[in-house]
Amino acid sequence: MTTTELTGAEDVAWNLSDLYESGDDPRLETDVDEAESAAAAFRNRYHGEVAGLDAAALVAAIEERERIESVFTRAIYYAHLWFATDMTDSQRGALVAHLTEKGAAVETQLLFFSLELADLGDEAAEALLADAALERWQHWLRSVRKYRPYLLSEPEEKIMTEKVVSGFAAWDRLYDELLGAIKVDLDGEEIGFEEAMSKLYSPDRDLRGRASEAVTAALEPGARTRTYVFNTIAVDRSIDDRLRGHETWISARNLANDTTDEAVQALIDAVVSRYDVVRRYYTLKARLLGLERLSFYDRMAPLAEDPEQMAWDEARELVVNAFADFSSETGGIVERFFGEAWIDAPPRDGKRPGAFCATNVPGVHPYVFLNYTGDRRSVLTLAHELGHGLHGYLAAPLGLFNASTPLTTAETASVFGEALTFKRLLAEEDDPKRRLNLLAGRIEDSIATIYRQVAMNRFEDAVHTWRRDEGELSPEKFEELWLGTQADMFGDSVDIGGYGSWWSYIPHFIGTPGYVYAYSYGCLFALSIFRKYELEGDSMVEPYLDLLRAGGSKPPAELAEMVGLDLTNPDIWSSGIDALEAELDEAEALANEAGLG
Ligand SMILES: [Zn+2]
Repeated sequence: MTTTELTGAEDVAWNLSDLYESGDDPRLETDVDEAESAAAAFRNRYHGEVAGLDAAALVAAIEERERIESVFTRAIYYAHLWFATDMTDSQRGALVAHLTEKGAAVETQLLFFSLELADLGDEAAEALLADAALERWQHWLRSVRKYRPYLLSEPEEKIMTEKVVSGFAAWDRLYDELLGAIKVDLDGEEIGFEEAMSKLYSPDRDLRGRASEAVTAALEPGARTRTYVFNTIAVDRSIDDRLRGHETWISARNLANDTTDEAVQALIDAVVSRYDVVRRYYTLKARLLGLERLSFYDRMAPLAEDPEQMAWDEARELVVNAFADFSSETGGIVERFFGEAWIDAPPRDGKRPGAFCATNVPGVHPYVFLNYTGDRRSVLTLAHELGHGLHGYLAAPLGLFNASTPLTTAETASVFGEALTFKRLLAEEDDPKRRLNLLAGRIEDSIATIYRQVAMNRFEDAVHTWRRDEGELSPEKFEELWLGTQADMFGDSVDIGGYGSWWSYIPHFIGTPGYVYAYSYGCLFALSIFRKYELEGDSMVEPYLDLLRAGGSKPPAELAEMVGLDLTNPDIWSSGIDALEAELDEAEALANEAGLG
Protein backbone atom coordinates (compact mmCIF):
# COMPACT_ATOMS: atom_id res chain seq x y z
CA MET A 1 0.00 0.00 0.00
CA THR A 2 1.35 3.43 -0.87
CA THR A 3 0.36 5.96 1.73
CA THR A 4 2.54 8.75 0.42
CA GLU A 5 -0.28 10.32 -1.57
CA LEU A 6 -2.16 13.02 0.31
CA THR A 7 -5.97 12.94 0.28
CA GLY A 8 -6.67 15.96 2.48
CA ALA A 9 -7.99 13.62 5.18
CA GLU A 10 -4.70 13.74 7.11
CA ASP A 11 -6.01 16.04 9.86
CA VAL A 12 -9.56 14.70 10.05
CA ALA A 13 -9.61 13.35 13.61
CA TRP A 14 -12.60 12.68 15.79
CA ASN A 15 -13.31 14.54 19.00
CA LEU A 16 -13.98 12.05 21.79
CA SER A 17 -14.57 14.72 24.41
CA ASP A 18 -18.32 14.25 23.96
CA LEU A 19 -17.62 11.05 25.91
CA TYR A 20 -14.70 11.90 28.21
CA GLU A 21 -11.95 14.51 28.24
CA SER A 22 -9.15 11.93 28.22
CA GLY A 23 -8.17 8.52 29.53
CA ASP A 24 -7.39 10.25 32.84
CA ASP A 25 -10.77 11.95 33.08
CA PRO A 26 -11.93 11.20 36.66
CA ARG A 27 -15.53 10.88 35.39
CA LEU A 28 -14.47 7.67 33.65
CA GLU A 29 -13.62 5.84 36.87
CA THR A 30 -16.65 7.39 38.62
CA ASP A 31 -18.93 5.96 35.92
CA VAL A 32 -17.36 2.51 36.12
CA ASP A 33 -17.66 2.50 39.93
CA GLU A 34 -21.25 3.62 39.65
CA ALA A 35 -22.08 0.81 37.18
CA GLU A 36 -20.42 -1.72 39.46
CA SER A 37 -22.23 -0.69 42.61
CA ALA A 38 -25.54 -0.33 40.77
CA ALA A 39 -25.10 -3.88 39.40
CA ALA A 40 -24.50 -5.21 42.91
CA ALA A 41 -27.55 -3.34 44.21
CA PHE A 42 -29.60 -4.66 41.30
CA ARG A 43 -28.62 -8.19 42.16
CA ASN A 44 -29.45 -7.72 45.83
CA ARG A 45 -32.81 -6.37 45.00
CA TYR A 46 -33.97 -8.71 42.22
CA HIS A 47 -32.10 -12.01 42.42
CA GLY A 48 -34.63 -14.80 42.93
CA GLU A 49 -37.46 -12.23 42.84
CA VAL A 50 -38.14 -11.76 39.12
CA ALA A 51 -41.08 -14.19 38.99
CA GLY A 52 -42.87 -12.15 41.63
CA LEU A 53 -42.69 -8.78 39.87
CA ASP A 54 -45.84 -7.20 38.44
CA ALA A 55 -45.74 -5.35 35.12
CA ALA A 56 -44.88 -1.93 36.59
CA ALA A 57 -42.15 -3.36 38.82
CA LEU A 58 -40.73 -5.33 35.91
CA VAL A 59 -40.57 -2.18 33.76
CA ALA A 60 -38.65 -0.44 36.53
CA ALA A 61 -36.24 -3.37 36.74
CA ILE A 62 -35.63 -3.50 32.98
CA GLU A 63 -35.06 0.25 32.87
CA GLU A 64 -32.52 0.03 35.68
CA ARG A 65 -30.84 -2.93 33.97
CA GLU A 66 -30.58 -0.89 30.76
CA ARG A 67 -29.33 2.19 32.60
CA ILE A 68 -26.48 0.23 34.22
CA GLU A 69 -25.46 -1.24 30.89
CA SER A 70 -25.62 2.17 29.22
CA VAL A 71 -23.33 3.77 31.78
CA PHE A 72 -20.81 0.98 31.40
CA THR A 73 -21.11 0.83 27.61
CA ARG A 74 -20.24 4.52 27.30
CA ALA A 75 -17.06 3.99 29.29
CA ILE A 76 -15.93 0.92 27.39
CA TYR A 77 -16.73 2.56 24.05
CA TYR A 78 -14.48 5.41 24.98
CA ALA A 79 -11.67 3.00 25.84
CA HIS A 80 -12.02 1.10 22.55
CA LEU A 81 -12.26 4.23 20.40
CA TRP A 82 -9.31 5.88 22.12
CA PHE A 83 -7.23 2.72 21.73
CA ALA A 84 -8.18 2.20 18.05
CA THR A 85 -6.44 5.42 17.00
CA ASP A 86 -3.14 4.46 18.67
CA MET A 87 -2.68 0.81 19.53
CA THR A 88 0.98 1.35 20.40
CA ASP A 89 0.09 3.48 23.44
CA SER A 90 0.25 1.12 26.42
CA GLN A 91 -1.90 3.41 28.59
CA ARG A 92 -4.75 2.99 26.10
CA GLY A 93 -4.29 -0.78 25.91
CA ALA A 94 -4.28 -0.99 29.69
CA LEU A 95 -7.55 0.94 29.91
CA VAL A 96 -9.23 -1.48 27.49
CA ALA A 97 -7.97 -4.49 29.46
CA HIS A 98 -9.04 -2.91 32.77
CA LEU A 99 -12.56 -2.13 31.55
CA THR A 100 -12.96 -5.52 29.86
CA GLU A 101 -12.34 -7.19 33.23
CA LYS A 102 -14.72 -4.79 34.98
CA GLY A 103 -17.29 -5.45 32.26
CA ALA A 104 -17.15 -9.21 32.80
CA ALA A 105 -17.68 -8.66 36.52
CA VAL A 106 -20.69 -6.41 35.91
CA GLU A 107 -22.10 -8.88 33.38
CA THR A 108 -21.78 -11.78 35.84
CA GLN A 109 -23.76 -9.82 38.44
CA LEU A 110 -26.59 -9.18 35.98
CA LEU A 111 -26.78 -12.55 34.20
CA PHE A 112 -29.45 -13.95 36.52
CA PHE A 113 -32.00 -11.43 35.25
CA SER A 114 -32.31 -12.89 31.72
CA LEU A 115 -32.24 -16.43 33.08
CA GLU A 116 -35.08 -15.74 35.49
CA LEU A 117 -37.07 -14.01 32.75
CA ALA A 118 -36.60 -17.01 30.47
CA ASP A 119 -37.63 -19.25 33.32
CA LEU A 120 -41.05 -17.57 33.81
CA GLY A 121 -43.94 -19.88 32.93
CA ASP A 122 -45.50 -19.16 29.53
CA GLU A 123 -48.83 -18.19 31.06
CA ALA A 124 -47.31 -15.73 33.51
CA ALA A 125 -45.13 -14.27 30.76
CA GLU A 126 -48.04 -13.82 28.34
CA ALA A 127 -50.05 -12.07 31.05
CA LEU A 128 -47.14 -9.65 31.58
CA LEU A 129 -46.63 -9.14 27.85
CA ALA A 130 -50.33 -8.30 27.45
CA ASP A 131 -49.95 -5.45 29.98
CA ALA A 132 -49.79 -2.03 28.32
CA ALA A 133 -47.06 -0.97 30.74
CA LEU A 134 -44.66 -3.42 29.09
CA GLU A 135 -45.41 -2.47 25.52
CA ARG A 136 -42.05 -0.83 24.96
CA TRP A 137 -40.25 -3.97 26.14
CA GLN A 138 -42.33 -6.53 24.21
CA HIS A 139 -39.70 -7.47 21.67
CA TRP A 140 -36.81 -7.30 24.10
CA LEU A 141 -38.62 -9.61 26.51
CA ARG A 142 -39.56 -12.02 23.75
CA SER A 143 -35.94 -12.07 22.56
CA VAL A 144 -34.75 -12.98 26.05
CA ARG A 145 -37.40 -15.67 26.33
CA LYS A 146 -36.95 -17.23 22.90
CA TYR A 147 -34.20 -19.46 24.35
CA ARG A 148 -36.61 -20.90 26.90
CA PRO A 149 -37.38 -24.19 25.07
CA TYR A 150 -33.65 -24.85 24.71
CA LEU A 151 -32.44 -24.01 28.21
CA LEU A 152 -31.30 -26.72 30.60
CA SER A 153 -31.60 -26.72 34.37
CA GLU A 154 -29.55 -24.12 36.25
CA PRO A 155 -26.81 -26.53 37.43
CA GLU A 156 -26.54 -27.95 33.90
CA GLU A 157 -26.30 -24.45 32.41
CA LYS A 158 -23.55 -23.63 34.88
CA ILE A 159 -21.52 -26.65 33.84
CA MET A 160 -22.05 -25.89 30.14
CA THR A 161 -20.90 -22.29 30.63
CA GLU A 162 -17.85 -23.20 32.68
CA LYS A 163 -16.79 -26.02 30.37
CA VAL A 164 -16.75 -23.68 27.36
CA VAL A 165 -13.44 -22.32 28.63
CA SER A 166 -11.64 -25.65 28.26
CA GLY A 167 -13.79 -26.82 25.34
CA PHE A 168 -15.07 -24.64 22.50
CA ALA A 169 -13.14 -21.50 23.49
CA ALA A 170 -9.89 -23.44 23.87
CA TRP A 171 -10.18 -24.94 20.37
CA ASP A 172 -11.09 -21.56 18.93
CA ARG A 173 -8.04 -19.96 20.50
CA LEU A 174 -5.76 -22.77 19.34
CA TYR A 175 -7.05 -22.26 15.79
CA ASP A 176 -6.40 -18.52 15.98
CA GLU A 177 -2.89 -19.13 17.24
CA LEU A 178 -2.22 -21.63 14.47
CA LEU A 179 -3.43 -19.13 11.88
CA GLY A 180 -1.43 -16.32 13.43
CA ALA A 181 1.75 -18.37 13.22
CA ILE A 182 1.46 -19.09 9.47
CA LYS A 183 4.34 -17.59 7.51
CA VAL A 184 4.50 -17.56 3.75
CA ASP A 185 7.70 -18.08 1.81
CA LEU A 186 7.31 -15.93 -1.30
CA ASP A 187 10.28 -15.75 -3.69
CA GLY A 188 12.63 -16.73 -0.90
CA GLU A 189 11.33 -14.07 1.47
CA GLU A 190 9.27 -14.87 4.55
CA ILE A 191 6.14 -12.71 4.81
CA GLY A 192 2.94 -12.71 6.87
CA PHE A 193 -0.23 -14.44 5.68
CA GLU A 194 -2.20 -11.22 5.16
CA GLU A 195 0.60 -9.69 3.14
CA ALA A 196 0.79 -12.77 0.93
CA MET A 197 -2.97 -12.67 0.36
CA SER A 198 -2.75 -8.99 -0.61
CA LYS A 199 -0.60 -10.00 -3.61
CA LEU A 200 -3.76 -11.47 -5.15
CA TYR A 201 -4.80 -7.84 -5.81
CA SER A 202 -1.66 -7.24 -7.89
CA PRO A 203 -1.98 -6.44 -11.61
CA ASP A 204 0.95 -8.85 -12.21
CA ARG A 205 -0.52 -12.26 -13.00
CA ASP A 206 2.73 -14.05 -12.51
CA LEU A 207 3.05 -12.60 -9.01
CA ARG A 208 -0.54 -13.61 -8.21
CA GLY A 209 0.20 -17.17 -9.32
CA ARG A 210 3.41 -17.39 -7.27
CA ALA A 211 1.67 -15.90 -4.22
CA SER A 212 -1.17 -18.43 -4.45
CA GLU A 213 1.27 -21.33 -4.70
CA ALA A 214 3.18 -19.96 -1.72
CA VAL A 215 -0.06 -19.66 0.30
CA THR A 216 -1.03 -23.24 -0.59
CA ALA A 217 2.42 -24.43 0.53
CA ALA A 218 2.09 -22.44 3.78
CA LEU A 219 -1.32 -23.97 4.52
CA GLU A 220 0.07 -27.50 4.15
CA PRO A 221 2.06 -28.07 7.39
CA GLY A 222 -0.73 -27.56 9.95
CA ALA A 223 -3.52 -28.92 7.76
CA ARG A 224 -4.09 -32.09 9.79
CA THR A 225 -4.32 -30.15 13.07
CA ARG A 226 -6.69 -27.52 11.67
CA THR A 227 -8.81 -30.35 10.25
CA TYR A 228 -8.91 -31.91 13.69
CA VAL A 229 -10.01 -28.62 15.26
CA PHE A 230 -12.88 -28.24 12.77
CA ASN A 231 -13.94 -31.86 13.44
CA THR A 232 -13.93 -31.16 17.16
CA ILE A 233 -15.92 -27.93 16.82
CA ALA A 234 -18.46 -29.79 14.66
CA VAL A 235 -18.91 -32.54 17.25
CA ASP A 236 -19.07 -29.96 20.06
CA ARG A 237 -21.92 -28.24 18.21
CA SER A 238 -23.73 -31.52 17.67
CA ILE A 239 -23.52 -32.37 21.40
CA ASP A 240 -24.89 -28.95 22.36
CA ASP A 241 -27.70 -29.21 19.82
CA ARG A 242 -28.67 -32.69 20.97
CA LEU A 243 -28.74 -31.68 24.65
CA ARG A 244 -30.68 -28.48 23.99
CA GLY A 245 -32.98 -29.92 21.35
CA HIS A 246 -32.05 -27.81 18.32
CA GLU A 247 -33.22 -29.43 15.13
CA THR A 248 -30.32 -28.80 12.74
CA TRP A 249 -26.69 -27.67 13.00
CA ILE A 250 -27.69 -24.10 12.12
CA SER A 251 -30.94 -23.76 14.10
CA ALA A 252 -29.24 -22.21 17.16
CA ARG A 253 -27.54 -19.60 14.96
CA ASN A 254 -30.82 -18.78 13.20
CA LEU A 255 -32.52 -18.31 16.56
CA ALA A 256 -29.82 -15.90 17.69
CA ASN A 257 -30.19 -14.04 14.39
CA ASP A 258 -33.91 -13.53 14.99
CA THR A 259 -34.85 -15.61 11.98
CA THR A 260 -36.12 -19.12 11.21
CA ASP A 261 -34.70 -22.22 9.52
CA GLU A 262 -37.27 -21.83 6.72
CA ALA A 263 -36.43 -18.18 6.02
CA VAL A 264 -32.71 -18.95 5.88
CA GLN A 265 -33.28 -21.93 3.61
CA ALA A 266 -35.33 -19.72 1.27
CA LEU A 267 -32.40 -17.28 1.11
CA ILE A 268 -29.90 -20.06 0.41
CA ASP A 269 -32.11 -21.57 -2.30
CA ALA A 270 -32.63 -18.19 -3.97
CA VAL A 271 -28.89 -17.46 -4.11
CA VAL A 272 -27.85 -20.97 -5.17
CA SER A 273 -30.43 -20.97 -7.96
CA ARG A 274 -28.76 -17.82 -9.37
CA TYR A 275 -25.13 -18.96 -9.37
CA ASP A 276 -25.21 -18.19 -13.12
CA VAL A 277 -24.65 -14.50 -12.27
CA VAL A 278 -21.25 -15.36 -10.77
CA ARG A 279 -20.27 -17.45 -13.79
CA ARG A 280 -21.30 -14.72 -16.20
CA TYR A 281 -19.27 -12.13 -14.36
CA TYR A 282 -16.08 -14.18 -14.11
CA THR A 283 -16.37 -15.09 -17.80
CA LEU A 284 -16.59 -11.36 -18.59
CA LYS A 285 -13.67 -10.61 -16.31
CA ALA A 286 -11.50 -13.24 -18.02
CA ARG A 287 -12.29 -11.54 -21.33
CA LEU A 288 -11.43 -8.10 -19.96
CA LEU A 289 -8.13 -9.38 -18.60
CA GLY A 290 -7.38 -11.12 -21.89
CA LEU A 291 -7.38 -14.58 -20.33
CA GLU A 292 -8.93 -17.80 -21.61
CA ARG A 293 -10.30 -18.55 -18.14
CA LEU A 294 -9.74 -17.10 -14.67
CA SER A 295 -7.82 -19.03 -12.11
CA PHE A 296 -9.06 -18.68 -8.53
CA TYR A 297 -6.11 -16.35 -7.90
CA ASP A 298 -7.23 -13.95 -10.67
CA ARG A 299 -10.57 -13.06 -9.13
CA MET A 300 -9.26 -9.99 -7.31
CA ALA A 301 -7.02 -8.74 -10.13
CA PRO A 302 -7.58 -5.04 -10.89
CA LEU A 303 -9.07 -4.11 -14.26
CA ALA A 304 -7.60 -0.61 -14.37
CA GLU A 305 -3.88 -0.06 -14.27
CA ASP A 306 -3.86 3.15 -12.28
CA PRO A 307 -7.04 3.47 -10.24
CA GLU A 308 -8.51 6.94 -9.63
CA GLN A 309 -7.98 8.64 -6.28
CA MET A 310 -10.58 10.85 -4.68
CA ALA A 311 -9.64 13.69 -2.33
CA TRP A 312 -11.36 13.75 1.07
CA ASP A 313 -13.35 16.93 0.37
CA GLU A 314 -14.61 15.50 -2.89
CA ALA A 315 -15.64 12.25 -1.17
CA ARG A 316 -17.39 14.25 1.54
CA GLU A 317 -19.35 16.22 -1.03
CA LEU A 318 -20.26 13.09 -2.99
CA VAL A 319 -21.49 11.16 0.04
CA VAL A 320 -23.36 14.05 1.66
CA ASN A 321 -25.09 14.81 -1.64
CA ALA A 322 -26.01 11.17 -2.14
CA PHE A 323 -27.68 11.06 1.29
CA ALA A 324 -29.23 14.55 0.80
CA ASP A 325 -30.71 13.47 -2.54
CA PHE A 326 -32.53 10.72 -0.71
CA SER A 327 -33.94 13.14 1.86
CA SER A 328 -32.85 16.47 3.31
CA GLU A 329 -33.08 14.96 6.80
CA THR A 330 -30.55 12.21 6.06
CA GLY A 331 -28.28 14.69 4.27
CA GLY A 332 -28.35 16.94 7.33
CA ILE A 333 -27.53 14.10 9.73
CA VAL A 334 -24.64 12.84 7.61
CA GLU A 335 -23.25 16.38 7.32
CA ARG A 336 -23.06 16.57 11.14
CA PHE A 337 -20.56 13.67 11.17
CA PHE A 338 -18.15 15.84 9.18
CA GLY A 339 -18.96 19.19 10.74
CA GLU A 340 -18.87 18.03 14.36
CA ALA A 341 -15.80 15.78 14.24
CA TRP A 342 -17.49 12.40 14.64
CA ILE A 343 -15.12 10.83 12.08
CA ASP A 344 -11.49 9.73 12.36
CA ALA A 345 -10.37 9.47 8.74
CA PRO A 346 -6.68 9.03 7.81
CA PRO A 347 -4.38 6.04 8.18
CA ARG A 348 -1.78 6.79 10.87
CA ASP A 349 1.07 4.89 12.46
CA GLY A 350 -0.21 2.72 15.28
CA LYS A 351 -3.83 3.05 14.17
CA ARG A 352 -5.96 -0.07 13.89
CA PRO A 353 -6.55 -1.23 10.30
CA GLY A 354 -10.01 -1.38 8.72
CA ALA A 355 -13.16 0.64 9.31
CA PHE A 356 -16.12 0.50 11.67
CA CYS A 357 -18.91 2.58 13.13
CA ALA A 358 -19.57 2.68 16.87
CA THR A 359 -23.29 2.71 16.25
CA ASN A 360 -25.03 2.76 19.64
CA VAL A 361 -23.02 4.91 22.03
CA PRO A 362 -25.49 5.62 24.84
CA GLY A 363 -26.30 9.27 25.41
CA VAL A 364 -23.96 10.56 22.70
CA HIS A 365 -23.88 9.94 18.91
CA PRO A 366 -22.21 7.36 16.68
CA TYR A 367 -18.52 7.64 15.76
CA VAL A 368 -17.02 6.57 12.42
CA PHE A 369 -13.55 5.07 12.18
CA LEU A 370 -11.76 4.86 8.81
CA ASN A 371 -8.42 4.39 7.12
CA TYR A 372 -9.24 6.63 4.17
CA THR A 373 -6.85 6.25 1.23
CA GLY A 374 -8.94 7.82 -1.53
CA ASP A 375 -9.44 4.69 -3.64
CA ARG A 376 -12.90 3.68 -4.84
CA ARG A 377 -13.31 1.14 -2.04
CA SER A 378 -12.53 3.62 0.70
CA VAL A 379 -15.05 6.12 -0.69
CA LEU A 380 -17.75 3.44 -0.55
CA THR A 381 -16.56 2.38 2.91
CA LEU A 382 -17.11 5.98 4.05
CA ALA A 383 -20.69 5.76 2.74
CA HIS A 384 -21.12 2.34 4.35
CA GLU A 385 -20.02 3.46 7.81
CA LEU A 386 -22.07 6.66 7.57
CA GLY A 387 -25.10 4.46 6.80
CA HIS A 388 -24.46 2.66 10.09
CA GLY A 389 -24.05 6.07 11.71
CA LEU A 390 -27.38 7.29 10.34
CA HIS A 391 -29.08 4.12 11.63
CA GLY A 392 -27.61 4.55 15.11
CA TYR A 393 -28.44 8.25 15.16
CA LEU A 394 -32.09 7.69 14.21
CA ALA A 395 -32.61 4.76 16.59
CA ALA A 396 -30.82 6.37 19.56
CA PRO A 397 -33.99 7.77 21.22
CA LEU A 398 -35.16 4.16 21.77
CA GLY A 399 -32.36 3.51 24.26
CA LEU A 400 -29.62 0.90 24.14
CA PHE A 401 -31.71 -2.28 24.29
CA ASN A 402 -34.26 -1.35 21.64
CA ALA A 403 -31.80 0.42 19.35
CA SER A 404 -29.43 -2.56 19.05
CA THR A 405 -30.05 -4.73 15.99
CA PRO A 406 -29.29 -8.42 15.37
CA LEU A 407 -26.72 -9.24 12.69
CA THR A 408 -29.41 -9.86 10.08
CA THR A 409 -30.66 -6.26 10.03
CA ALA A 410 -27.51 -4.51 11.25
CA GLU A 411 -26.29 -3.92 7.68
CA THR A 412 -29.53 -2.43 6.32
CA ALA A 413 -28.57 1.24 6.38
CA SER A 414 -24.91 0.66 5.51
CA VAL A 415 -25.61 -1.32 2.33
CA PHE A 416 -28.34 1.18 1.42
CA GLY A 417 -25.98 4.13 1.92
CA GLU A 418 -23.34 2.44 -0.22
CA ALA A 419 -25.91 1.84 -2.97
CA LEU A 420 -27.02 5.50 -2.90
CA THR A 421 -23.41 6.67 -3.16
CA PHE A 422 -22.49 4.19 -5.85
CA LYS A 423 -25.42 5.28 -8.03
CA ARG A 424 -24.32 8.89 -7.73
CA LEU A 425 -20.71 8.04 -8.46
CA LEU A 426 -21.79 6.15 -11.56
CA ALA A 427 -24.14 8.93 -12.68
CA GLU A 428 -21.27 11.44 -12.55
CA GLU A 429 -19.02 9.29 -14.74
CA ASP A 430 -19.32 9.53 -18.56
CA ASP A 431 -16.16 7.74 -19.67
CA PRO A 432 -17.22 4.17 -20.69
CA LYS A 433 -14.03 2.54 -19.49
CA ARG A 434 -14.23 4.18 -16.09
CA ARG A 435 -17.93 3.34 -15.85
CA LEU A 436 -17.06 -0.27 -16.56
CA ASN A 437 -14.41 -0.26 -13.83
CA LEU A 438 -16.89 1.19 -11.34
CA LEU A 439 -19.49 -1.44 -12.20
CA ALA A 440 -16.96 -4.27 -12.06
CA GLY A 441 -15.81 -3.19 -8.60
CA ARG A 442 -19.40 -3.01 -7.42
CA ILE A 443 -20.26 -6.45 -8.83
CA GLU A 444 -17.17 -8.00 -7.23
CA ASP A 445 -18.15 -6.55 -3.84
CA SER A 446 -21.64 -7.98 -4.23
CA ILE A 447 -20.35 -11.41 -5.27
CA ALA A 448 -18.08 -11.46 -2.22
CA THR A 449 -20.91 -10.55 0.14
CA ILE A 450 -23.84 -12.40 -1.38
CA TYR A 451 -22.48 -15.43 -3.22
CA ARG A 452 -19.17 -16.28 -1.62
CA GLN A 453 -20.80 -16.33 1.82
CA VAL A 454 -23.59 -18.63 0.68
CA ALA A 455 -21.12 -21.01 -1.01
CA MET A 456 -19.20 -21.07 2.29
CA ASN A 457 -22.45 -21.81 4.11
CA ARG A 458 -22.98 -24.79 1.76
CA PHE A 459 -19.50 -26.04 2.70
CA GLU A 460 -20.24 -25.65 6.42
CA ASP A 461 -23.55 -27.41 5.94
CA ALA A 462 -21.82 -30.32 4.18
CA VAL A 463 -19.16 -30.60 6.91
CA HIS A 464 -21.57 -30.49 9.87
CA THR A 465 -24.01 -32.85 8.19
CA TRP A 466 -21.23 -35.32 7.37
CA ARG A 467 -19.88 -35.17 10.92
CA ARG A 468 -23.34 -35.93 12.30
CA ASP A 469 -24.29 -38.65 9.84
CA GLU A 470 -20.98 -40.32 8.98
CA GLY A 471 -18.45 -39.33 11.65
CA GLU A 472 -15.03 -37.70 11.56
CA LEU A 473 -13.83 -36.13 8.29
CA SER A 474 -10.37 -36.69 6.82
CA PRO A 475 -8.37 -33.77 5.39
CA GLU A 476 -9.15 -35.16 1.92
CA LYS A 477 -12.87 -35.11 2.72
CA PHE A 478 -12.68 -31.45 3.72
CA GLU A 479 -10.96 -30.64 0.41
CA GLU A 480 -13.54 -32.62 -1.55
CA LEU A 481 -16.46 -30.84 0.14
CA TRP A 482 -14.79 -27.43 -0.25
CA LEU A 483 -13.98 -27.87 -3.92
CA GLY A 484 -17.40 -29.39 -4.58
CA THR A 485 -19.32 -26.50 -3.04
CA GLN A 486 -17.03 -23.94 -4.75
CA ALA A 487 -17.42 -25.65 -8.13
CA ASP A 488 -21.21 -25.54 -7.69
CA MET A 489 -20.88 -21.75 -7.72
CA PHE A 490 -18.09 -21.18 -10.27
CA GLY A 491 -19.08 -23.88 -12.77
CA ASP A 492 -16.42 -23.75 -15.49
CA SER A 493 -15.85 -20.02 -15.15
CA VAL A 494 -12.97 -20.30 -12.67
CA ASP A 495 -10.16 -22.85 -12.52
CA ILE A 496 -9.98 -24.03 -8.90
CA GLY A 497 -7.01 -26.36 -9.26
CA GLY A 498 -4.78 -25.83 -6.21
CA TYR A 499 -7.59 -24.26 -4.16
CA GLY A 500 -8.45 -27.35 -2.08
CA SER A 501 -6.96 -26.33 1.28
CA TRP A 502 -8.08 -22.70 1.16
CA TRP A 503 -11.08 -23.33 3.42
CA SER A 504 -8.67 -23.74 6.30
CA TYR A 505 -7.73 -20.10 6.97
CA ILE A 506 -11.30 -18.81 7.48
CA PRO A 507 -11.76 -18.21 11.22
CA HIS A 508 -15.58 -17.89 11.12
CA PHE A 509 -15.97 -21.63 10.51
CA ILE A 510 -14.36 -22.27 13.88
CA GLY A 511 -15.17 -19.22 16.01
CA THR A 512 -18.82 -18.66 14.99
CA PRO A 513 -20.27 -21.70 13.22
CA GLY A 514 -23.10 -20.80 10.86
CA TYR A 515 -22.18 -17.10 10.85
CA VAL A 516 -21.37 -16.44 7.20
CA TYR A 517 -24.85 -16.46 5.61
CA ALA A 518 -25.80 -13.39 7.65
CA TYR A 519 -23.68 -11.22 5.31
CA SER A 520 -25.73 -12.40 2.37
CA TYR A 521 -29.00 -12.06 4.27
CA GLY A 522 -28.26 -8.49 5.39
CA CYS A 523 -27.02 -7.39 1.99
CA LEU A 524 -29.95 -8.79 0.01
CA PHE A 525 -32.45 -7.45 2.55
CA ALA A 526 -31.00 -3.95 2.14
CA LEU A 527 -30.75 -4.23 -1.66
CA SER A 528 -34.38 -5.27 -1.97
CA ILE A 529 -35.38 -2.16 0.00
CA PHE A 530 -33.13 -0.10 -2.26
CA ARG A 531 -34.67 -1.69 -5.36
CA LYS A 532 -38.12 -0.78 -4.08
CA TYR A 533 -36.95 2.79 -3.52
CA GLU A 534 -35.64 2.96 -7.09
CA LEU A 535 -38.97 1.75 -8.43
CA GLU A 536 -41.29 3.71 -6.14
CA GLY A 537 -39.25 6.83 -5.45
CA ASP A 538 -39.93 9.32 -2.68
CA SER A 539 -42.93 7.46 -1.26
CA MET A 540 -40.38 5.02 0.20
CA VAL A 541 -38.42 7.70 2.07
CA GLU A 542 -40.54 8.01 5.22
CA PRO A 543 -41.26 4.27 5.60
CA TYR A 544 -37.54 3.56 5.25
CA LEU A 545 -36.60 6.20 7.82
CA ASP A 546 -39.26 4.77 10.16
CA LEU A 547 -37.64 1.38 9.75
CA LEU A 548 -34.28 2.86 10.79
CA ARG A 549 -35.89 4.72 13.70
CA ALA A 550 -37.29 1.37 14.90
CA GLY A 551 -33.71 0.05 15.39
CA GLY A 552 -33.93 -3.45 16.83
CA SER A 553 -37.23 -2.93 18.63
CA LYS A 554 -39.07 -5.32 16.28
CA PRO A 555 -38.21 -8.65 14.65
CA PRO A 556 -36.84 -8.48 11.07
CA ALA A 557 -40.14 -9.67 9.58
CA GLU A 558 -42.01 -6.71 11.14
CA LEU A 559 -39.31 -4.27 10.06
CA ALA A 560 -39.67 -5.58 6.50
CA GLU A 561 -43.42 -5.04 6.69
CA MET A 562 -42.83 -1.37 7.49
CA VAL A 563 -41.43 -0.91 3.98
CA GLY A 564 -43.99 -3.22 2.37
CA LEU A 565 -41.76 -6.29 2.05
CA ASP A 566 -42.72 -9.81 3.02
CA LEU A 567 -39.87 -11.85 4.48
CA THR A 568 -41.75 -15.12 3.98
CA ASN A 569 -41.85 -14.47 0.24
CA PRO A 570 -38.63 -15.70 -1.46
CA ASP A 571 -38.95 -12.84 -3.99
CA ILE A 572 -37.39 -10.55 -1.41
CA TRP A 573 -34.09 -12.33 -2.04
CA SER A 574 -34.37 -12.47 -5.82
CA SER A 575 -35.09 -8.76 -6.16
CA GLY A 576 -31.64 -7.97 -4.71
CA ILE A 577 -30.12 -10.42 -7.17
CA ASP A 578 -32.06 -8.76 -10.01
CA ALA A 579 -30.42 -5.46 -9.10
CA LEU A 580 -27.00 -7.08 -9.31
CA GLU A 581 -27.88 -8.68 -12.62
CA ALA A 582 -28.90 -5.29 -14.04
CA GLU A 583 -25.43 -3.98 -13.17
CA LEU A 584 -23.87 -6.97 -14.85
CA ASP A 585 -25.97 -6.38 -17.98
CA GLU A 586 -24.68 -2.83 -18.15
CA ALA A 587 -21.08 -3.91 -17.61
CA GLU A 588 -21.36 -6.43 -20.46
CA ALA A 589 -22.94 -3.84 -22.73
CA LEU A 590 -20.16 -1.36 -21.99
CA ALA A 591 -17.51 -3.98 -22.66
CA ASN A 592 -19.13 -4.83 -25.99
CA GLU A 593 -19.56 -1.20 -27.05
CA ALA A 594 -16.01 -0.30 -26.22
CA GLY A 595 -14.81 -3.46 -27.94
CA LEU A 596 -12.88 -4.32 -24.80
CA GLY A 597 -11.48 -7.72 -24.26
ZN1 LIG B 1 -21.18 -2.83 8.06
